[in-house]
Amino acid sequence: MTNENIEKIRRQFPVLSRRIGEKDLIYLDNTATSQTPSTVVREIEFLYDNSKANVHRGVHTLSQEATDRQEHTRRRVQGWINAAEFEEIIFTRGTTEAINLVASSFGDRFRDGDEIILTVMEHHANIVPWQLLQRHKDIKLRVVEINDRGELDLEQYRSLFNEHTVMASFTHISNVLGTVNPVKEMTRIAHEHGVPVLVDGAQAVPHLRPDVQQIGCDFYVFSSHKMYGPTGVGILYGRRELLESMPPYQGGGEMIKHVSFSHTTFAELPFKFEAGTPDFIDIAAFSKAFDFLEETGMDMISMHEKQLLDYTTRRLLDIPGIKIYGSAPDKAAVISFNIGEAHNYDVGFLLDKMGVAVRTGHHCAQPLMERLGVPGTVRASFAVYNTFDEADRFIDALRRIAPMLM
Ligand code: PMP
Repeated sequence: MTNENIEKIRRQFPVLSRRIGEKDLIYLDNTATSQTPSTVVREIEFLYDNSKANVHRGVHTLSQEATDRQEHTRRRVQGWINAAEFEEIIFTRGTTEAINLVASSFGDRFRDGDEIILTVMEHHANIVPWQLLQRHKDIKLRVVEINDRGELDLEQYRSLFNEHTVMASFTHISNVLGTVNPVKEMTRIAHEHGVPVLVDGAQAVPHLRPDVQQIGCDFYVFSSHKMYGPTGVGILYGRRELLESMPPYQGGGEMIKHVSFSHTTFAELPFKFEAGTPDFIDIAAFSKAFDFLEETGMDMISMHEKQLLDYTTRRLLDIPGIKIYGSAPDKAAVISFNIGEAHNYDVGFLLDKMGVAVRTGHHCAQPLMERLGVPGTVRASFAVYNTFDEADRFIDALRRIAPMLM
């Protein structure tokens, strides 16, 4: 991407011109949440100022506008991930809520002795909702291991399936290692055993455009705030057949056909799973994030991030004492590392003094930390607006910090 192109993109993110103390901000915490372009922010402001009304209730103009906007975003998401039908797109508060919805509602049918396959690189959001099922049922979690590059052991994955397996749930891209998992192949293997699949796409959607029909998965979940959209909005894609067979997750307004004290019937998809007033303003503004991604071009985004990843990794490895976790050939622009025995928090703290925002700690992936044998890592992650100059300044800052901590 040319400097001119990057500058044009950066102008859409005013926060990137911020200073942290005396230093220019270098925002490398994109895996936790990306920044949001002005077009999205302006849309939110516009909607609050001009068109706020609750969806699906009123006949009045504002309410109809609000409903149209929400349903426009639903169709936008459908098209973006190539879902067969718009009814297969459910709005949630985020990836976490989407996985809880599936674990609770689809998991309703699981029985004592059933087994769920997860991987050691899962975010807590794709571990704990399944563990909650264990409060009432004797359900076993089976875990796929990784090799030293941070890739899943597909042979072991295959060997975990048996007649008790009822679900396989795994991340598309690791939020720590950056590994891009072969989700299509993994789905195919699960389906050979008649096992449904949930793919956690939270870390994939900022970097690539998933095609749920091509992957073949039964559920695909992600969050708007990690892909340049507003906070408070998530997506659950589910195949119609499965969604229809599932009981509602939450009860309340919007999700019913008829309520009486003796008998209540539920609304059709997708509303059956959307109890209460949704975050309709942010959902509406989410469509502007798709405009941004489309105008920038997913291919351009992937290419730029890959170049930043390769360049930064090469330069980081020149720093004495550095250890990078995750070196899969197919890797997103996420770099987790430690320097010598230095505590990740100290590295992050000193980087912040130099204007560099990175994440430190266990990244909500404690089982993975245990597997790696560390309490935590420092994590730098890139988005389309990051520059090579920022990568250089990040590395220079680390070079200055490393001798102080070792
Ligand atoms: N899964 C993965 C892989 C993630 O990285 C995250 C966010 N860090 C989540 C799930 C949870 O997303 P949210 O907090 O937006 O619900």
